[in-house]
Amino acid sequence: MRRRTVLAGLSASLAAGRASAQAWPSKPITIVVPFAAGGPTDLMARIVGERMARELGQQFIIDNTTGAAGTIAVGKAVRSAPDGYTISIGHVGTHVANGTIYKNLNYNLLTDLAPIARLPQNPLLVVASNQLSVKSLKELVEYLKVNGDKVPGGTAGMGSGSHLGALAFFAATGTKYQLVPYRGTGPAMQDLVANQIQVMVDQSSNSLPQVRAGKIKAFAVTAKARSAAAPEIPTAAEAGYPMEVSIWHGLWAPRGTPPEIIAKLNAAAIATLQDPDIRRRLEDLGQDLPTPAEMAPAAFAAFHKEEYARWEKILVAANVKIE
Ligand code: ASP
Repeated sequence: MRRRTVLAGLSASLAAGRASAQAWPSKPITIVVPFAAGGPTDLMARIVGERMARELGQQFIIDNTTGAAGTIAVGKAVRSAPDGYTISIGHVGTHVANGTIYKNLNYNLLTDLAPIARLPQNPLLVVASNQLSVKSLKELVEYLKVNGDKVPGGTAGMGSGSHLGALAFFAATGTKYQLVPYRGTGPAMQDLVANQIQVMVDQSSNSLPQVRAGKIKAFAVTAKARSAAAPEIPTAAEAGYPMEVSIWHGLWAPRGTPPEIIAKLNAAAIATLQDPDIRRRLEDLGQDLPTPAEMAPAAFAAFHKEEYARWEKILVAANVKIE
């Protein structure tokens, strides 16, 4: 499924010129978003993309290409011309875990993409439908011990953040719920609010606004410490079920994109995350922002590689694979 939205930059109409690295960007830049509109990755792309568009004086087009937990979207970005006009946004699921889980990917996440910048990370929240009659993580675990096979829970597909969160939840609590795949946790959240599904371990940026609106309940945060954005929500460890999963995001270009273009995109991403309004918006959603040093392409490439190796071990040990 595909959907396009245009984010306008201030001087978009003034830009013109040759498609060389020096003249870049002379036309709109497409960000391929691997999940549905209205979900956490889409939100990150829109918040960051709108500000980067202003920084670069060009429009950013949001291209939501969904399905197969982001593998279709990333493949599309990998195969795009390496000219800086198509970039890929994703997270520890799409750009790390999927490399281990999907055996027949026709691209290599570490060598076919050129890192542009690391983007913020947020923890997951263990959330439930208001109609589920449990009031704490402990009660949820007791409930799932008896009813787990009948309780539908949302994910954005195998390898997505909400799937990694579910795996951590299963490992920490010794319980399970049914994994119902969606094209993103934006649509899954609508079903959680409507009690079509009953649980989810979902990114704080997607869950917190619904928790604040009283539409769902949150039992725990999967981080070492409580989040400053929602200090009333205990950590999973406080209830006796330690889980630490953080969903970090990033931007990549196809391999072979000129380094000067990567540098311009990186500078725009750094300027974006220095903007106090952007920082406030992201922090309010429970996001932790990387430092400019962590955002540098080389530092991000090293981090990406480390995370790939770390998750490969976890996913192989948990025997997670597509049959
Ligand atoms: N990031 C996904 C989305 O935007 C959700 C997930 O990874 O669980 O829908």
